[in-house]
Amino acid sequence: MPNVVILGSTGSIGTQTLDVIRHLPGYTVLGLAAGSNKKLLRKQIAEFKPQFASINCPESAKSLSEEFSIPVYSDPLQLEEMVSDPRCDVVVVAVVGAMGLKPTLAALEAGKRVALANKETLVAGGHLMMKYQSQIIPVDSEHSALWHCFYGRDRKHIAKIILTASGGPFRTYKGSLENVSAKEALAHPNWDMGGKISIDSATMMNKGLEVIEAHWLFNFPYSHIEVVVHPESIVHSMIQLNDGSVIAHLGTADMRLPIQYALTYPDIVSSPVEQLDLTKVGTLSFEPVDLKRFPSLELAYRAGQAGGEQPIALNAANEEAVAAFLTGKLKFTQIPELVEKVMETFQGKSFPTLEQILDIDSEARIRAREWIG
Ligand code: NDP
Ligand code: MG
Repeated sequence: MPNVVILGSTGSIGTQTLDVIRHLPGYTVLGLAAGSNKKLLRKQIAEFKPQFASINCPESAKSLSEEFSIPVYSDPLQLEEMVSDPRCDVVVVAVVGAMGLKPTLAALEAGKRVALANKETLVAGGHLMMKYQSQIIPVDSEHSALWHCFYGRDRKHIAKIILTASGGPFRTYKGSLENVSAKEALAHPNWDMGGKISIDSATMMNKGLEVIEAHWLFNFPYSHIEVVVHPESIVHSMIQLNDGSVIAHLGTADMRLPIQYALTYPDIVSSPVEQLDLTKVGTLSFEPVDLKRFPSLELAYRAGQAGGEQPIALNAANEEAVAAFLTGKLKFTQIPELVEKVMETFQGKSFPTLEQILDIDSEARIRAREWIG
């Protein structure tokens, strides 16, 4: 029966993963890793009784280790040990940002199944991860939907991928987005998610990162990946076949569905999530993306197509820009401005090694902070 290690257990995806495991007979939590939320990690250790845990603070790690008599680490390098543990079968990567890249690669190198929520790792290091393609199962709802659509299908019959996007909180906003507040940007209409991805959804950089994610996961060229706005978030993505017909995956907007599928794949088992009833949904609507309002999407296509250093710089600059927006140091409309400025200073074309990725990431963050400062 599968032993699961969850990186980012105290976040939105992490807590929902634990809820899925509560309802999945036979799945055992082997390890839990949090950033700083000691109170919640303590509750999770008490309930799920992992063999080890991690928290990014030595004092908290020491006190939890004494209380539960299990190893509790605080050094980020030990995340790599946790995911490589011989007892581990599945690693759920639910930390946010490119910091997930090293432990994800460690899990893949150790031969584990990786249920991947963290899209930033694929944006920064997709070319390194693809040699382990068969071990990666996407958790992101769009890519999970595509996983369903691709299942058992000959890929030469698939003409293009169509990612759906809710359009975020500002799809129908009247006027300029320049002075919107963090509170307004965090208020996603359909999904309750962590702060960083909520802001990415408001700028639509989230969809841009997902285009790059789809490029790597499904090995499709950017010219064959499209985005369509679908405000109801019921169709989670689609593929168009050579004859023009479309296969879509529909489901209740609840991340526990794709999380569960990534754990049980290729099995599909019952779930506590509300069953989809299309007569209650009534209408499904689709519209093109307003690229003037959401320039981040175009930036991501540009970086993805350029390849090499640009997607790494795009992602790092965006992480810095979102953090600066959330702390009031940047206006909403300056997020794509900053990303474009930083990204354009990185023109290297070759596929970087892990060390080079980490260097480009740090350098892009320095340039982004200089711009902000
Ligand atoms: P959250 O911000 O809610 O959670 C992030 C998690 O990472 C928290 O548990 C946090 O711990 C933990 N963390 C932060 N730093 C460290 C560290 N150094 N070591 C270990 N853990 C750390 O993010 P989400 O759950 O929303 O998103 C996670 C990833 O999944 C992102 O890449 C996002 O894009 C992707 N995703 C999320 C979706 C969603 O619905 N939320 C949907 C699709 C994809 P703590 O809170 O204790 O500090
Ligand atoms: Mg998504």
